[in-house]
Amino acid sequence: MADERITLDQRAQMTDIERLRHSAAHVLATAILKIWPDAQFAAGPPVENGFYYDLELDHRISPEDFEKIEAEMKKEIKANHVFERVALPRDEALSMAQRGVLGALGERSSPSKFKLDIIQNIPEGEEISLYRNGEFTDLCAGPHVMRTGNIGAFKLTHVASAYYKGDEKNPQLQRIYGTAFKNKTQLDEYFAMLEEAKKRDHRKLGKELELFTFDDQVGPGLPLWLPRGTAIIEELEKLAKETEFAAGYVRVRTPNLARESLYITSGHLPYYAESMFPPMELLESEGQKRKDQLLADFARKVDEEDALRSAGDLTPEKTKGLEEERSSILKDVRSLRERYYLKAMNCPHHHKLYDAIPRSYRDLPLRLAEYGTCHRYEQSGELFGLMRVRSLQMNDAHIYCTEDQFETEFLAVNEMYLKYFKLFGIDKYVMRFSTHDPAKLGQKFVDNSPLWLKTEEMVRGVLQRSGINYVEVPNEAAFYGPKIDVQVWSAIGREFTIATNQVDFAQPRRFNLVYKDRDNTEKTPLCIHRAPLGTHERFIGFLIEHYAGNFPLWLSPEQVRILPIGDEAPLLEYARGIQAELRAHQVRCELDASTDHIKSKIANAEQMKVHTMLVIGNRDLEANAVSVRVHGKGNLGAKPRCEVVADLLERIKARRP
Ligand SMILES: [Zn+2]
Ligand SMILES: [Zn+2]
Repeated sequence: MADERITLDQRAQMTDIERLRHSAAHVLATAILKIWPDAQFAAGPPVENGFYYDLELDHRISPEDFEKIEAEMKKEIKANHVFERVALPRDEALSMAQRGVLGALGERSSPSKFKLDIIQNIPEGEEISLYRNGEFTDLCAGPHVMRTGNIGAFKLTHVASAYYKGDEKNPQLQRIYGTAFKNKTQLDEYFAMLEEAKKRDHRKLGKELELFTFDDQVGPGLPLWLPRGTAIIEELEKLAKETEFAAGYVRVRTPNLARESLYITSGHLPYYAESMFPPMELLESEGQKRKDQLLADFARKVDEEDALRSAGDLTPEKTKGLEEERSSILKDVRSLRERYYLKAMNCPHHHKLYDAIPRSYRDLPLRLAEYGTCHRYEQSGELFGLMRVRSLQMNDAHIYCTEDQFETEFLAVNEMYLKYFKLFGIDKYVMRFSTHDPAKLGQKFVDNSPLWLKTEEMVRGVLQRSGINYVEVPNEAAFYGPKIDVQVWSAIGREFTIATNQVDFAQPRRFNLVYKDRDNTEKTPLCIHRAPLGTHERFIGFLIEHYAGNFPLWLSPEQVRILPIGDEAPLLEYARGIQAELRAHQVRCELDASTDHIKSKIANAEQMKVHTMLVIGNRDLEANAVSVRVHGKGNLGAKPRCEVVADLLERIKARRP
């Protein structure tokens, strides 16, 4: 399990809050033992947003038990016991486990079986440490907070089941989850954030606001974009195209599939095979003719054998020879089938576009951009709303440049990120810079150690000089080069990974991409893969939560709705005139010409989170005015029609909220 820390070093790296939460796990175990003294404990690490402890117990713990357990935990915290560390030789620890003392309040009739197993798996020479808080003693490498009283506020959240050591051959344990914070305010804020996140859940709002849908017959993980969701997509693409055009990018288009050999060249096969849809096999018309010939040959060999048999000339050697010839024909038939794969990434196609025209140093940097559609085979259990899908449209581009140009290009990409963050009101972000693992060269990573080190050093240098907020993570690079994942926090403080940047020294070589340098020699360019707006799926999923569905005017699926008070002909005609004027300027404007009362017209528009409502009564008609109502802001009063239209157009153009 990724978040279980195995080695002493890893455990020592606990952050303050993890230390506090892990300490809460010890207190949880103490409390459970006070109620059920027979409980057998396994592992109790901190995890994202909380902690858990795995235990074996005949009684099935349910949320109804939480109050009772929490009351015992409170007593332990109030007692303010010291977390006392005891180091001891392995033999002594083993004997304690035999006596049932570990993960317990004292000696018991049966051994601490999981603790015993854990000690037996600790190498002979390693020091063994125990921690005591009050009556409770546990086998643990630490670290902990000083005293139980340092655990400010906690709450048990849920129960799950888990196999010991994650192996289904082992016994199934109960896993009790909880979370803990320094104080009650932080705990309350956390649960308030979870509540708010539930209300903003992109799957829920996506349905209510009619943005996208999934259909069983289309298939899991394959989103269908309704007109309102498509409107957001189109706006994002417009933004990307304008921004990229201004930054010197050129646009290209490529098909959604390619022959197997392209992906063997790119290395996607085999390095990325698990994430690709299985191949399609097909036979082109030339292949069909050849296949007919081969099958005729096959039939002749069968006839030949029959003839020999009838003549009594069929020897075992001849039979064997004919069998071999036939199986070789069948092999040829099979080889006629060509394999095509749906593309999981756009890069190989773009590399071919680079290669389609002879390039010189004067052509670089070459920035090829495409909102490409990719398909990735995610396990069905991993699929999650728009966040994990099988079909995705990516804000993709590949920048081919010389080593000298790398820094400028890479900085420009980072600046584009910052510009987008500002536009979307993303205040908190971090770039996760993933590097390779030297032990996995040739398996998980392309085998070229010097180039890995050189490229990583270049990226590190730019990140440091640009002053951008980043952290370095070993072992998580892409197979062809170091990678930067961009993590952002939504308005309510939830974290999303929305975009990646990759620096690629491997693929240009594999594709023999070259440019003619000043000195007339051929050189290999570097390639930067970048997708600041990520995929439409993930980015819109993020935006739905970030804005709680209240999109800014320029992104709003329905920017304006006109609501006439009544349905008399002159009023409707006036309304239609305004709608036509706005639509002529590409504003997404609808008209509610129903006979509903104005109150329910407003309620309907508010429910769909329409950005601006123009309410029109007879008085507005006479004055050539409209009454403006903005979602979330209420009635802003009557204004001249031309002023309102001009203001809407100006704000949409400037992408002002
Ligand atoms: Zn511990
Ligand atoms: Zn790429």
